[in-house]
Amino acid sequence: MFRWFARAVLLSALLLAGCPAPAPVPAALPNEDSYLAQREQMVTTQIEQRGVSDAAVLNVLLTVPRHRFVPPDLIDQAYADHPLPIGYGQTISQPYIVALMSEALQVHPGDKVLEIGTGSAYQAAVLAELGAETFTIEIIPELANQAADRLKELDCTEVQVRNADGYFGWEEHAPFDAIIVTAAPDHLPQPLANQLAEGGRLVVPIGPVGSVQTLWLFEKRDGELEATNLGAVSFVPFTRAAGD
Ligand code: SAH
Repeated sequence: MFRWFARAVLLSALLLAGCPAPAPVPAALPNEDSYLAQREQMVTTQIEQRGVSDAAVLNVLLTVPRHRFVPPDLIDQAYADHPLPIGYGQTISQPYIVALMSEALQVHPGDKVLEIGTGSAYQAAVLAELGAETFTIEIIPELANQAADRLKELDCTEVQVRNADGYFGWEEHAPFDAIIVTAAPDHLPQPLANQLAEGGRLVVPIGPVGSVQTLWLFEKRDGELEATNLGAVSFVPFTRAAGD
């Protein structure tokens, strides 16, 4: 857990079972208090004001050091109200979108959660910090490797990273209490629906490449998926491995 960063968090009473404290930040970087202030500002002005109210989610966003998940040359924008490039044409999602999707997933400590689209691993670290046993799949090998190294550096060992096409989910660890897709497919991948546990939640942006998508929450009840429209969003495309 990122306890080191959590000194002044609003809800310090919440006991979370996520990643241990990160390694010390190199002296060249601004001190951590300035990042904590930026996180407080981010949570208040970008997230709470837009209606996210889940206490555990807000606390985790106050705690996870987002600046450790962005490229070094963009570190001064780590807490800004927009996505940032992370290389290979991909992005780390806007903080509000991470909060919105995390709240919709209704993660409870001990839940098994699958993420498709590891990217920077920020969302995966958020899930781990919410107490989830986290499995995350990234299709770009370099990003998968970087994510695994970064999570190791931050002692975030409850996350397992896999380099694969996430369309097929992660059968050997199914069923999952929650599944989050952070790239936009044009339909709901059937393997993901199959790997969702009874009572589970699946959050996914669906829509055509290059246009606005709809963020959907699917809840499995009596084997059926109930869909809720969470609004318009804009994600990078869900890509497919050659030959699939
Ligand atoms: N959750 C990320 C956001 C990354 S952007 C974060 O917190 O930073 C979406 C990611 O999904 C990209 O890294 C992209 O390479 C990946 N992706 C796209 N299609 C995929 C697929 N079929 N399987 C796994 N990952 C995929």
